[in-house]
Amino acid sequence: MIDVKDKTIVVLGAARSGLAAAILLQKKQANVFVSDNAEENQKKTEMQILQDQQINYEFGQHSNKVFDADFVVLSPGIPSQSAIVQELLSKNIPVYSELEIASWFCASPIIAITGSNGKTTTTTLLGEMLRTESPQSIVAGNIGNAFSEVVLESEESNWAAVEVSSFQLETIDNFHPRVVIILNLAPNHLDWYDSYEDYINAKLLILKNLQDGDYLIYNADDKLLHEKIRNCPAKKRTFSLQDTNASIFVHKNEIIYEDKILIKTDEIRLNGNHNYQNAMAASLAAKIAGIDDQIISRVLKDFKGVEHRLEFVSEVKGISFINDSKATTVESLGVALTSFQTPIILIAGGKNKGSDYGKLNTLIGENVREVILIGSAKEKMSEAWRAIVPIHLSDTLTDAVEMAYRLAKPGENVLLSPSCSSFDMFKDFEDRGKKFKEIVYKLKFKHEN
Ligand code: ADP
Repeated sequence: MIDVKDKTIVVLGAARSGLAAAILLQKKQANVFVSDNAEENQKKTEMQILQDQQINYEFGQHSNKVFDADFVVLSPGIPSQSAIVQELLSKNIPVYSELEIASWFCASPIIAITGSNGKTTTTTLLGEMLRTESPQSIVAGNIGNAFSEVVLESEESNWAAVEVSSFQLETIDNFHPRVVIILNLAPNHLDWYDSYEDYINAKLLILKNLQDGDYLIYNADDKLLHEKIRNCPAKKRTFSLQDTNASIFVHKNEIIYEDKILIKTDEIRLNGNHNYQNAMAASLAAKIAGIDDQIISRVLKDFKGVEHRLEFVSEVKGISFINDSKATTVESLGVALTSFQTPIILIAGGKNKGSDYGKLNTLIGENVREVILIGSAKEKMSEAWRAIVPIHLSDTLTDAVEMAYRLAKPGENVLLSPSCSSFDMFKDFEDRGKKFKEIVYKLKFKHEN
């Protein structure tokens, strides 16, 4: 940990976590400067917050002031491969993630949750378990709170559940969780990495400071992961959908832990095997944190899921509308396609991330009746799927939803599961999901009133 008092610190990126880091460092008496290359008129709220906090800033560019820093803090949305970060590193200016600097001020032992898919669901679920036992426990992640925003409330006697993305891990130094959960490894953000290997290695940086008294919880069904963590000195705990040698596993529709039934899968509100994996990972971490079985199973029974992740929106004339706006990868779309018993009218597309859409051909052929594509990736996706399913192209999300409603039959599902990021048409995936929900509610009003 670096003493930040009187240090000149530049924070790159003025989104939620960047702002929170700037405010945290300001409270700790550093000289903070925030730099964001988005235009001022898009960042009015952020500018107001910085003015209120008396923190200096610039928008619309990263000027030379960025290089006048003892060190730089990187918002989670900025990959370390970006030109500005490469330039900082070439000038030997240390760059740390928001995760790293927030962890310097964390009094609670940290449970860090990473993986390609399921981080937010698992973090939220674990957070519920920890907070049922001690309401002061810290939960930080992609929904709700940035780690820097809540870290000063941390206490030694409580735990902190922290969601961690691979971008943040590239610029850690002393970040030392007591418990790490790795949910799975699947290609994601490949447009930022030279290869799959680089991406995996970035994710595994989370193990950098683990020692033999710490714990590593991981997915025993992920063979590559199993191989990669072999040399990690931490105590290992595993979860599995089939392997009865794992620490916790599913057997005949029951989740078994230490020879006892923790819960039956049909008692868990969340659907799908992927959510059983998330539930098992969260339960193992909660056990390590000393939470008793009754609390764990009660939370698993009550938890309704997280917004924008296979979220049921409404039924219009017998057609179900589902918002899975958070599904920005081919893998997440694949998961969504296996989560319904009746046919799907799929709305997909957005900004292309260099994904191989052809991988989904079988699942699309089996579960999807019609596809409506939006966004800049639509040509590429259409090319991959047009031989197996009828494809329709749409310029706006509103048109896409209305078309899906016309194509769907009662009992079927209209699923927004884009398999792409949202940045070509929306502010972020939340903006996309909220707009989808608004359109569905309007459609319901129009057709059911
Ligand atoms: P993340 O925070 O890692 O992006 P989320 O919990 O927000 O993950 O879930 C995003 C989407 O990823 C879900 O809608 C679902 O389609 C898929 N998903 C969730 N959990 C898993 C899992 N354990 N394995 C594979 N896919 C998953």
